[in-house]
Amino acid sequence: MKIKGFQKLSLIDYPGKLVCSLFVVECNFKCGFCHNPELVLNNDKNYYPEKKILDFLEKRKNHLEGVCISGGEPLLNLNKDFLKKIKELGYLIKIDTNAMFPEKIKELIDEKLVDYLAIDIKSNKKNYEKITNSKVDFDKLEKSIKLASLLDDYEFRTTIIKGIHTKEELKEIAIWLNKIIGKKPKKFCLQGFKNTGNLLDKSFEDIKDTSKDFLIELKDLIKDYFEEVVVRV
Ligand code: SF4
Repeated sequence: MKIKGFQKLSLIDYPGKLVCSLFVVECNFKCGFCHNPELVLNNDKNYYPEKKILDFLEKRKNHLEGVCISGGEPLLNLNKDFLKKIKELGYLIKIDTNAMFPEKIKELIDEKLVDYLAIDIKSNKKNYEKITNSKVDFDKLEKSIKLASLLDDYEFRTTIIKGIHTKEELKEIAIWLNKIIGKKPKKFCLQGFKNTGNLLDKSFEDIKDTSKDFLIELKDLIKDYFEEVVVRV
């Protein structure tokens, strides 16, 4: 896989687990608020060798519990053999995805190569193409959402930007997800937008961080639609 970033220890990327995190390059979306433009644009083609990561994981077997694969979009350049080797070492695998590759998600679930899926829900259906600057196949997105709900551990999450995401929109997202999977989804995360000053679309660089208060207001509004709603700032 095209691994550009390697964080040897993370306490936050896999809920309740001590993990390392891998960040892969390239993405099929071009979200203006993306805070990993260097991964999406991928101008520098030097990658971590998979062997180096596997050697590290071999040595850390008794300390780390899992591997979080994020990006960019991990399912674009997926190498299942690499994932198989991670599983052979006894690790849990979490994948953060924008959910546009349901056929790959199905393979990963069928072959038990993923333990936790975190699916980004960028907005309601009406605004999806605008916010991702991309053509969106909703059939694929909805298939992925349904597949994720077959796992014991999964979450849907939206990065909230005040002024772009409204309360009405969040309610629409909650109702949409319930309709797709036919029951209350297990977990929804409201992630506050953080302006790092290094965003894919420079016009987003004037936007303020999302306040915790606004996220809590949204949580109150949608909490009955999910088993659990989490606020991340
Ligand atoms: S925020 Fe958007 S552009 Fe950035 S990695 Fe995620 S899906 Fe891709």
